[in-house]
Amino acid sequence: MLKQAHDILEQYFGFSSFRQGQQQVIEHISQGHNTLGIMPTGGGKSICYQIPGLVVDGTALIISPLISLMKDQVDSLTSLGISATYINSSLSSEEQFERLRNASNGEYDFVYVAPERFDSESFLRSLRSTRLSLIAFDEAHCISQWGHDFRPSYRSVVQNIQRLGTLPPIVALTATATEEVTRDIQQLLSISEKCVVNTGFARDNLHFRIVKGKEKHDYIQDYVRSRPNESGIIYASTRKDVDRLHQWLTKEGYQVDKYHAGLSEDERKEAQNSFIQEETTIMVATNAFGMGIDKSNVRYVIHYALPMNIESYYQEAGRAGRDGEPSDCILLFSAKDIQLQKFLIEQSLMEEDKKSVEYQKLQQMINYCHTDRCLQEYMLSYFKDPFEHPPCEKCSNCLHEGELKDITKEAQMILSCTKRMDERFGSGLVAKVLKGSKSQKVKDGRFHKLSTYGLLSHLTEKEITQMIQFLVAEGYLTVGEGKFPLLRLTSESVSVLKGEVTVSMLLESTSVAVKEENYDE
Ligand code: ADP
Repeated sequence: MLKQAHDILEQYFGFSSFRQGQQQVIEHISQGHNTLGIMPTGGGKSICYQIPGLVVDGTALIISPLISLMKDQVDSLTSLGISATYINSSLSSEEQFERLRNASNGEYDFVYVAPERFDSESFLRSLRSTRLSLIAFDEAHCISQWGHDFRPSYRSVVQNIQRLGTLPPIVALTATATEEVTRDIQQLLSISEKCVVNTGFARDNLHFRIVKGKEKHDYIQDYVRSRPNESGIIYASTRKDVDRLHQWLTKEGYQVDKYHAGLSEDERKEAQNSFIQEETTIMVATNAFGMGIDKSNVRYVIHYALPMNIESYYQEAGRAGRDGEPSDCILLFSAKDIQLQKFLIEQSLMEEDKKSVEYQKLQQMINYCHTDRCLQEYMLSYFKDPFEHPPCEKCSNCLHEGELKDITKEAQMILSCTKRMDERFGSGLVAKVLKGSKSQKVKDGRFHKLSTYGLLSHLTEKEITQMIQFLVAEGYLTVGEGKFPLLRLTSESVSVLKGEVTVSMLLESTSVAVKEENYDE
């Protein structure tokens, strides 16, 4: 069998050796065992079911939640001379019927279907008369209610396939599975411990970076300007943000597309195609974009806002660098994004216990943004990666990007200035007052009479604003909602003002030096 599998790898796919884990998964399936393969994105999961599907007689049934990808997968198999088809809602019922009949006649080695197909009695009936070589669950984490992308229809497939009678071996494949999700998949699909092949989650070519306390647009502007011909994805949390970022970047002269669930199917398809075919270089999108998008040369993924949990983040960020080339995964952190995610959890229709799980997951996502450990390591330990990993030496924490400075004094000045201005103004005016600006607004409010006026005159207004944003990111200040977000103190502010905690910030320049003599708080 192994020799045969190897020959197929060479003859059909043109590869000389298996990648880590592929051979084990193939062996388990060939021996008739239900198997779970956990491999990182780009690790080569498709071959794990494609080779046994060719070796064993019958039709391999691939269940995938990614309708958009089925056609591509079928086309690529067909181009290798392998008979394959897909059956999903994009086809007329006549076409579906025709393909089902052909499948029963054993005309295909591979049939891709969406989980929803299994709700149809006639589909199940014709499957009963089809000789199946194996059943593969692609993106298997969608089966688990503990997964970040749970699809109830996927879970009900499990009950429905039991009705088929004797089943061929089942293989489940995923790139993101926490321990709970792994256990859930194992239990649902009767997969024994020895048939779980976990090659780990590490993606050595990805450089993770967290950016805090910077104006996000400035950062994006500088970043994309320095990579004119590289493809990248910018993820935002809301459709409104996607629209705004898209409009702004287009105005700035970049080749940008946008993708979110509020657009028509045609618009989405068009955007996706032009990004994949490189007519555009930047894709601004919500998390609706990307699952199963097969574009290997995405050089960077920027998260404009905090994702809801590490699983989503790792999967979205992992769309960078599938070709193995160095790629950046950047998260622009600001504290107010936490509120949005909390709001989304709160107003969702989830049961209370599920909500509390989501809150915990969000907290771990927030912790990722504050940790000083290796970022890659942090995520791998979150997924309980089975291998030891030394610090990656590539992430922003390993590289100590910027210089960590004690800014407790500056923080105290900013907080007390905010307080003295009665918490009724935004970061712009607070920065002006601390800078000692002579602007009319400052005079009108008689802020030049405050003891905090001009305390940070040695910094630029931009530097002061960045520090304010950092304090917001760290929760030492909060900003109200609305058009003019006002700065307010938080319960954390008090401990800074009392000198109970020190505040450190990674700074790129060393211009920050406190003029202590001016400070009389
Ligand atoms: P995944 O589904 O795990 O993200 P794919 O199955 O799409 O990954 O494979 C990713 C890429 O790796 C594809 O271009 C595939 O052709 C290639 N690949 C898979 N297995 C091998 C192998 N054994 N040797 C070389 N390349 C491989």
